[in-house]
Amino acid sequence: MALVLSGGKVVSAASVFQADVRVENGLIDNVGLDAARAGDEITDVSGKFILPGGIDAHTHFDLPLGDGTRTADDFPSGTKAAAAGGTTCVIDYATQFRGESLGRGLANWHELADGRSFCDYAFHLALTDWNASVAGELPAVIEAGVTSFKMYMAYKGSLQVDDGVLYNVMTELKKTGGLLCVHCENGDITAARSLELLGAGKKQPEYHPVSRPEELEEEAVGRLLVISGLAGAPVYVVHVSSARSMKKILEARSYGQTVFAETCPQYLYLDDSLYSPRNADAAKYICSPPLRDKKNHAGLWEALSKNLVDVVATDHCSFNFKGQKDMQADFTKIPNGLPGVQSRMLLLYLGVSRGRITLPQMTRLASENPARIFGLYPGKGSIIPGADADMTILDPDGKTLITAKNHFQNVDYTPYEGWEVPCAIESVYLRGKRIFHRGSFTTDRPLGRFIRRNATVLQN
Ligand SMILES: [Zn+2]
Repeated sequence: MALVLSGGKVVSAASVFQADVRVENGLIDNVGLDAARAGDEITDVSGKFILPGGIDAHTHFDLPLGDGTRTADDFPSGTKAAAAGGTTCVIDYATQFRGESLGRGLANWHELADGRSFCDYAFHLALTDWNASVAGELPAVIEAGVTSFKMYMAYKGSLQVDDGVLYNVMTELKKTGGLLCVHCENGDITAARSLELLGAGKKQPEYHPVSRPEELEEEAVGRLLVISGLAGAPVYVVHVSSARSMKKILEARSYGQTVFAETCPQYLYLDDSLYSPRNADAAKYICSPPLRDKKNHAGLWEALSKNLVDVVATDHCSFNFKGQKDMQADFTKIPNGLPGVQSRMLLLYLGVSRGRITLPQMTRLASENPARIFGLYPGKGSIIPGADADMTILDPDGKTLITAKNHFQNVDYTPYEGWEVPCAIESVYLRGKRIFHRGSFTTDRPLGRFIRRNATVLQN
């Protein structure tokens, strides 16, 4: 039987319009006034917005750090939190650790996610070990539906790769059609400054941002864009945290380079005053790049409002405050990352309610752009006939209190504790099935599927 959501306003990347949405066999069948046919089940969503389900293009679920520490959220809890927050698909960073083949790295992530996920998922693959045999595996990985990759210019001694490797990988991906995502911070100088600070007895969380200031992100973004320019390859800059890094991206675009930019709610709302020695919870906010001076917020929001940033993702990488983040002898040992997969759509809507971005822009940043860039479109990212019926019903007359007391994230805090957002996630539909309604899951079954992506991104 077909389902019709009736009376709501559909949000597309271009506009907000009154329409019914008819869903059949898990797909959007029709969008328009009077889409219902005899025998259809009608659900009244009057006064609500019907958004394409969110796509969080940057998560780290069940990520091991190598010292026995793992992220607090695994795929069951992370995808449940995503769905409860209106996100119906995540693209998680599978990781090939040193010494592993790409096939091994991907197989590890399938074991963690398959049959255990409450929303759909796809993988990027982070490369930490590059050699001829790894290069030879790329076509098979792309064939398996993993069409984007990641490398780190930071984390010296573990994840960091050098500039020559970045160049080689981009050159190779240009042939195979994959897209490289890059974490931009100068890892060598961060490591040197960290040693310098520790040597001076400066061990507290307040020195984390001192060890990796804005200049080191800006420098790495600039260097990356020289490398990608010479390779003639597109590139995606993850978690842009500062207005000056955005300027580097705009400069490269002005030379005709294809550069995608992502930022995260933490860089739009939180700032480095949280690392103050007066804040006993400062370790909660350790992430890289670090939270920045508040003056960056205006520049980043302006970039969102002018459509210069392509994607807002979370970089959800959760560690408990008690027992994981609070136990460390110095700031370099505090596991990096913040939770956020459940609050992304709410925080974007908060920006809408404050007039920073429009609802169609929110939909572009949260759903359609990540779908297009990462090869999920048109199956996902937009409410159009033929697409998966992934939909988030948002009530603009509702209210949501963000708190760790009742979130689905399996972590003991949220950076947005006590924030009230002027909307509520009424229901969430995954491929036509309502999986979440008014605060509760309507199914116990992990219905999320692995989504094989295509590489059409670069033609868009
Ligand atoms: Zn990340």
